[in-house]
This record gives sequence, structure tokens and C-alpha cells, in this order.
Amino acid sequence: MATFSIRTFGDPVLKTPTTDITEFDDALVRLVEAMIQTMYDAPGVGLAAPQVGVQKRLFVYDIGEGPGVVINPVLSDFRGDWTYHEGCLSVPELWWDITRAKQVRLTGIDLDGNELDIEADELLARVFQHEVDHLDGVLLLERVSSDERKEAMRTLRQRALGLPGDRAEAPR
Ligand code: ZN
Repeated sequence: MATFSIRTFGDPVLKTPTTDITEFDDALVRLVEAMIQTMYDAPGVGLAAPQVGVQKRLFVYDIGEGPGVVINPVLSDFRGDWTYHEGCLSVPELWWDITRAKQVRLTGIDLDGNELDIEADELLARVFQHEVDHLDGVLLLERVSSDERKEAMRTLRQRALGLPGDRAEAPR
């Protein structure tokens, strides 16, 4: 099974909004299969097309109930607040407590072209909001406080320079 390397912070593809998918062909099926395998290998609970360099409105997910794919997703009916420890495969090894809607409704299309309409709560709602952010060119770093962002940028710069950084788990 082919897999992708996951694009990380600094890659302009992550900041570029995506376009709707109009062709439901074999190439789309192969893309989805490779994205699911890439998500499992990472491992992660969701993966959006821009994270593998594809500017299309599509993401895959699995919160432990089997893989799902949503094409041309739209979120609506945001209800409540839920704070949860959230990370991103494109900003590896950093996590923040982020407040998002506790419940959302997601509509879209599945791989067979059927309409999807999913009421999501807590973790599933979190994954949906995170992945749709990716499709809009929004990274997790834009959802944290300015202090947290500064700290994260410092860590990412140190990593880029090959320095050990200041990760809590780093040996001293
Ligand atoms: Zn992400």
C-alpha cells in the first residue's frame, strides 16, 4: 500500500484553501486508501488532504470505530463548548488544551457519492472541526493563545536547527 509523507508546519500547502471534489473516480479511491494507511501509520485519528499535499476538500478519520471518509464536508449547528487536549500530525509532538464546539453537524459526500449527514459529539466533533480547519488552510497554531504560539514557534525553530529544544520529555 502506497503511503504519503505528512507535510508539516512551514509547508505552504497547509495554508492554501482547498477546492471541492467533482470527479468520483479510481484515482480518488486510491488517494483515500493511501490517506487512510498514512493516518494509521502516523498514527493519528484524522488526516486531511492538504497534509499529504493534495489541495482537495477531503479528509479521512478513525476514532476507533473504523475508517471514514468525508468529501466536500460542511459543518453547521455548532453547540456547546468542549475543551480537549489537541495535537496535529503537521505540528508534531505539541499539544494544547483547545476549546471548540462540543457538538456539530457535518454534511458531505462519501466515496460512493452518497450524501452524508452526521451528528457528532465530543471527540468525533473535535476531529471534524480540526480536519475542516485544514481544508480551509487553518493550522492548529492559529487556535492557540499568542503566548502558546510564541512558545511553539521557538520549539519548532530549535527543531529546525537540529537543537534538542525544550520538550518536557527531553533528557536533561
Ligand atoms: Zn491536523
